[in-house]
Amino acid sequence: MILVLKENASKAQIDNLIAWLKGMGVETHLSKGTYQTILGLIGDTSGLDEDMLSSLDFVETVKRIREPFKNANRKFHPDDTVVEINGRKIGGGNFQVIAGPCSVESEEQITFIAGEVKKVGAGLLRGGAFKPRTSPYAFQGLGDDGIRLLMEARKATGLPIVTEIMDAGHIPMFEECVDVIQVGARNMQNFELLKELGKLNKPILLKRGLANTIQELLMSAEYIMAGGNHQVILCERGIRTFETYTRNTLDLSAIPVIKELSHLPVVIDPSHSTGHSRFVASMSLAAAAAGADGLIIEVHNDPQHALCDGPQSITPEAFAELMKDIRRILEVVGKKIELPED
Ligand code: PEP
Ligand code: MN
Repeated sequence: MILVLKENASKAQIDNLIAWLKGMGVETHLSKGTYQTILGLIGDTSGLDEDMLSSLDFVETVKRIREPFKNANRKFHPDDTVVEINGRKIGGGNFQVIAGPCSVESEEQITFIAGEVKKVGAGLLRGGAFKPRTSPYAFQGLGDDGIRLLMEARKATGLPIVTEIMDAGHIPMFEECVDVIQVGARNMQNFELLKELGKLNKPILLKRGLANTIQELLMSAEYIMAGGNHQVILCERGIRTFETYTRNTLDLSAIPVIKELSHLPVVIDPSHSTGHSRFVASMSLAAAAAGADGLIIEVHNDPQHALCDGPQSITPEAFAELMKDIRRILEVVGKKIELPED
């Protein structure tokens, strides 16, 4: 349920109502937008009398929310959420490109790629240290060492680091060392992990599961937000369909759908969705044109010898070309990439 409050609602009236609702076992979320102040009610609202609430003289309207996601719902929070990572904004007209290798392989590799992508406007560095590989015999990532090397690359370039968590036991290390914690497609519904991440004050990049609906993605975001962490960035990374020419099928329509349903920023991953470096540019541009708030792109200096996901990784040169085209699209859609000065 949401209450749209009148413009003249006083702080005392709002505070009294919030306290009364708390006594009724209902939590609230106050959202002061440009045009409206909205009090979102979270929990079991079945015992509340809608007519009584509408009769309060500082309440404009009372609406029941049908969707099971509340905190993530645009009805609760009409304005776009802007997530800020060390001075880099994403959402609400701010676009960011996250770039880097699938996996951290060595200090030279990650620092070199970080420098290259930074030069042409990437705002954040990606790189896997703990890798969710289908085969237990495939390269599993450098683990703790990978995190340390990412920190070295951050020190060298100033780029905040984004990396995937697979084990809730690693949360203290990630909280201390990492700027954005990525939840991979395979863990989108690891609800215990999501609940733990909800307790942090740290941005979370939540990827859509391989075969999950948009509503399920939003419910997973809800798990994180219900714990108090509202810094959630959603990522569409392709879903399983009958098509095999591409690794997955990029659901570009997820962008306008999520924008309608939710206020959270949406990022597109053209690398894992297509699986082929030659399709990365066109899908990146399409995503920017369709209203995405950012991209997460795999970039490798030597894709042929990459330890993971080489075929879908683009070179720093191709990335530089792509960034020029992305800026042209952003001009048309009225978004900007803003990066702090060094
Ligand atoms: C990744 O981004 O490194 C990754 C493994 O992606 P996904 O979880 O989308 O498969
Ligand atoms: Mn990868």
